[in-house]
Amino acid sequence: MPDERTSVTTPDAAPSPLLTAHAQLASAVEILGYDDGLHRMLATPRREMNVAIPLRRDDGSIELFSGYRVQHNISRGPGKGGLRYSSSVDVDEVRALAMWMTWKCAVVDVPYGGAKGGVTIDPTRYSTAELERVTRRYTSEISPIIGPERDIMAPDIGTNEQTMAWVMDTYSVNRGYTIAAVTTGKPLAVGGSLGRATATSQGVVHAAAAALADAGVRLDEVSAAVQGFGKVGSHAARLLHEAGTKVVAVSDEHGGVHAPDGLDVVALLAHVADGGTVGEFEGGQAISNTELLALDVDVLVPAAVEGVLDADSAARVKARWVVEGANGPTTTEGDRVLAERGVVVVPDILANAGGVIVSYFEWVQANQAYWWTEQEIAERLEQRMAASYGAVSSLSRRESLSLRDAALVIGVRRVAEAHQIRGLYP
Ligand code: GLU
Repeated sequence: MPDERTSVTTPDAAPSPLLTAHAQLASAVEILGYDDGLHRMLATPRREMNVAIPLRRDDGSIELFSGYRVQHNISRGPGKGGLRYSSSVDVDEVRALAMWMTWKCAVVDVPYGGAKGGVTIDPTRYSTAELERVTRRYTSEISPIIGPERDIMAPDIGTNEQTMAWVMDTYSVNRGYTIAAVTTGKPLAVGGSLGRATATSQGVVHAAAAALADAGVRLDEVSAAVQGFGKVGSHAARLLHEAGTKVVAVSDEHGGVHAPDGLDVVALLAHVADGGTVGEFEGGQAISNTELLALDVDVLVPAAVEGVLDADSAARVKARWVVEGANGPTTTEGDRVLAERGVVVVPDILANAGGVIVSYFEWVQANQAYWWTEQEIAERLEQRMAASYGAVSSLSRRESLSLRDAALVIGVRRVAEAHQIRGLYP
């Protein structure tokens, strides 16, 4: 594909997330028998904005950052997706993440397209006041293309509820009134939803339970390792532990901790809340992230970053189930190796969709200015995850597809149908 926005130019070393995303789309397109024109339409971001973000640092000096917002597809509704702050963010990563949002929203049937934002900044190196200025400037720069009916933001790696409050405030102040539905994942005090903070992790646990149930196994009969102890991994570890799963290892970006008889997840959460790193926790032996992926556990939950399960690491996986809390944790080669070894992979666009499902609930509540109870949200999340998993799992059995291909086929087909029914203008 010669178009600059669909070209993939990093064939060496670690495949880029965009390469993985394009390979996944190509696989679904082949199964669906779509022609080249439709493939190209589905592969190409609809709209992109690159912005320069000048920051006046607390010491008075000026630094400049690159920011992006990519709306991969808006055929089924407004763009939807997180905002990532990381020193490794580049436009290709944001394009991949935006494409995954499109299929994710479609596979769980929330009426959105897919989008993603990113700023190339290591947020741990800046003060709260500096991050607020970066967020407000980024929001102002991209404000022509966002909005509750255009493109709705949410937290992702390196951003949180406070970031979403700043985005919402900046957008609202510039328009002269409060527009809560421009972001989701906000604090409750400014129109956030009950259950949103833990929704992605809760969805991961529902997906894991459903995949295990397909094999007649329950969560309280298995052991698990969770890579990542951020917004997704920490709550996933806790909720698995509460469901009776023996969580034997978790990690953060610095390293992990392993206790073969099960970690005291509650004590670990308290240790991290006090500012400790996972590897320093005294309730187990220190292990590396590489070792964690190869542990002899039943369920592995990669809940950190892209590309951690490549051909090499996938060959060492001993888990029977991989439940993808992160976006894009498995490369195409990694996927092939896991499939050969009989590992069931519950794909990201299904497994971690709980976050965007409850984002959708938050947006609906904000648009109606009517708030649901925690129980209503929990029930509707569970129903939607169960229905989505059921559809993916039965297509996978019927057509002998991997769960990833089945999820992609459902998501891609819904987007293609919307595109075709709307027709091309002019
Ligand atoms: N960043 C999350 C994701 O990757 C949430 C997106 C959203 O709620 O819009 O799914």
